[in-house]
Amino acid sequence: MSHVFHRSLTATYPVAMGGDGPYLIDANGKRYLDACGGAAVSCLGHADAAVIAAVQQQIATLAYAHSAFFTSEPMEQLADFLVARAPAGIDSVYFVSGGSEAVESALKMARQYFVERGQPQRRHVIARRQSYHGNTLGALATGGNAWRRQQFEPLLIGVTHVSPCYAWRDQAAYETDGDYVARLGQELEDNIAELGADNVMAFIAEPVVGATVGALPAITGYFARMRAICQRHGILLILDEVMCGMGRTGSLFACEQEAITADLICIAKGLGAGYQPIGAVMVSKDIRDTLRAGTGFFQHGHTYIGHATACAAALAVQRQIEERDLLANVRAMGGLLKERLHQRFDGHAHVGDIRGRGLFLGLELVQERASKQPFDPARRLHARIKAHAMQGGLMCYPMGGTIDGLHGDHILLAPPYIIAASHIDELVDKLGTAI
Ligand code: PMP
Repeated sequence: MSHVFHRSLTATYPVAMGGDGPYLIDANGKRYLDACGGAAVSCLGHADAAVIAAVQQQIATLAYAHSAFFTSEPMEQLADFLVARAPAGIDSVYFVSGGSEAVESALKMARQYFVERGQPQRRHVIARRQSYHGNTLGALATGGNAWRRQQFEPLLIGVTHVSPCYAWRDQAAYETDGDYVARLGQELEDNIAELGADNVMAFIAEPVVGATVGALPAITGYFARMRAICQRHGILLILDEVMCGMGRTGSLFACEQEAITADLICIAKGLGAGYQPIGAVMVSKDIRDTLRAGTGFFQHGHTYIGHATACAAALAVQRQIEERDLLANVRAMGGLLKERLHQRFDGHAHVGDIRGRGLFLGLELVQERASKQPFDPARRLHARIKAHAMQGGLMCYPMGGTIDGLHGDHILLAPPYIIAASHIDELVDKLGTAI
């Protein structure tokens, strides 16, 4: 028996031995088309020659220098690269080793920001139901997935969860409501009023919701409205772009398509594309200046901040994406994949919705299309689809269960930005067989 403490202590896993572009290869030589990048991580595919060379060179030169003593060339260059391409107002980058660390750091930065400004009571967070922000205790508290939180309560920070914004299951309300976005804005306003604006430090949201619901973008105008409400009350906006950022939706930052910026933006996954563990919080000049004018020190840190090899890997990944114009491929192949999914599944009795942006797409599974009635969560349809897909040599990311009032099984697709039309045919074919 394996001595690895896997996430599932009962399942058995194939041993991954190698990677080749959009494929992973197991110990038996079986090839799996990686149609989800793991969890929207491997955006450049596997074994990219330029990234391998950059990592090898960096390890040979300087693998690691502790950030309490040194900065490093790749860390400086990566920060410059990201800030030059960031939404307006973003001024600096705090590097960490993954998404949960990024969210945890953003929450603590927001908290310290208000302490430095003499408003220490501003510590409550408003988040959204059905969101996912990570698994460390602070990030977990903000996540809108009640069953994930339950076992670990009481959690460490005060969080109020409000409605997310996607019209699919809510279509009737959306269509008859007249102004769905205004209603959600009012809900946020009501919660702020109830908590007292002076007690609220941040509103956190994923621009396109990933892990819990399968690539659901918000309705046009929603984020601009939420941003305006936050600004009016002096509440910081934290955008969690850990999954949807770094080109996944067709623009480097997902919030570009919402025409908003934020006070803090969390990124990870596609930043290092899996070549090294890395994440970051990108912060506004106001946050940096406030912390600098106060103690001048962020009261938080990790051993591997700005890890030189991780930064070199991420820099190489981002340069590859830019030099090879891979975001154009994300948009083109994303459009083609969506079209092929519609062709294949529009007539399927149990595929209720096909959605998403760029190469960040989701399929929702239903018992019946007209009523959008989900399957009984006890059937664990998502787990069975995952098993069938793996058997057929396809990695996709099905999820399901009951997520804070939302039932349903869905499949997330997040293939690498390098895929070609032939991979899309293979993907849709294998997915059809698995479903
Ligand atoms: N935020 C979002 C939106 C995510 O999708 C994830 C990971 N699925 C996280 C945070 C946490 O990232 P990590 O698993 O790297 O800690």
